[in-house]
Amino acid sequence: MAPRTTSKKTFTVGWLYPDLMNIYGDRGNILTLLKRAEWRGYEARMLELGRGTTAGMDEVDVFFFGGGQDREQALVYEDLLEHKQPPLERAVANGAVVLAVCGGYQLLGHYYQTAEGERFPGIGLIDVRTEAGKKRFIGDVVVDTEMVDMTPTTLVGFENHSGRTFLGPKANPLGRVRLGFGNNGSDGFEGCLQGAVVGTYLHGSLLPKNPHLADHLIRSALRRRGVAELSPLDDSVELSAHERILERAQRRPPARARQEQLRSSAAAARRAPS
Ligand code: GLN
Repeated sequence: MAPRTTSKKTFTVGWLYPDLMNIYGDRGNILTLLKRAEWRGYEARMLELGRGTTAGMDEVDVFFFGGGQDREQALVYEDLLEHKQPPLERAVANGAVVLAVCGGYQLLGHYYQTAEGERFPGIGLIDVRTEAGKKRFIGDVVVDTEMVDMTPTTLVGFENHSGRTFLGPKANPLGRVRLGFGNNGSDGFEGCLQGAVVGTYLHGSLLPKNPHLADHLIRSALRRRGVAELSPLDDSVELSAHERILERAQRRPPARARQEQLRSSAAAARRAPS
């Protein structure tokens, strides 16, 4: 069922907590969604949804929830539970789509627990739980994805998180880690796909270097308006940036080898006489 008052050619991006959950270039995801909708003839607009605000959430096509350090997550999780959860669940049930990165991804799950053991309850929109560890996972990431309608089948970005996220039975991974740590540095998976919700640890920002994922989100959100296809765009610049990360990844040892390397160097450090 299409949003009530939206005319056929508007496209609305809802940005959750732009003042607090916006790190490592997350803003670039908003610009990419707006521009790619505009280049297809839509009147693209952005709705800021800070704390205490829910007005217009039923008009939103794609929600974006960016990353944030533990301090910022502590400042938003109560508002998310009290004010945003009901309209967000309604909007998703009505066909809206959600992209959540890192700290936002964690708070859409059941909970995020800091390395100090403090637990921030999430809204359980996706079947994942996150517990932070002492060591931060930082660096380039390359993911092989089996998502439908996605060419290339790789996603690239940058991660910086202490959280280890584990998927429950209702959640599917976004893909397999080729380079980097991903959800938890041990099961080899990155991100989460559950219905219309995409969660990931990929900052960078993500969508400028992965235009195919941006179009997947836009297409999914417009499906309820009977839009099956989007007119093609010239993504040569975006995809050459994507290629650059892939080339850089080639020069690095694959994820598993690197984890082995890290584990053995940590063990060697432990054995070394102090
Ligand atoms: N504070 C969370 C963590 O450390 C999320 C960090 C982020 O959004 N980059 O895992």
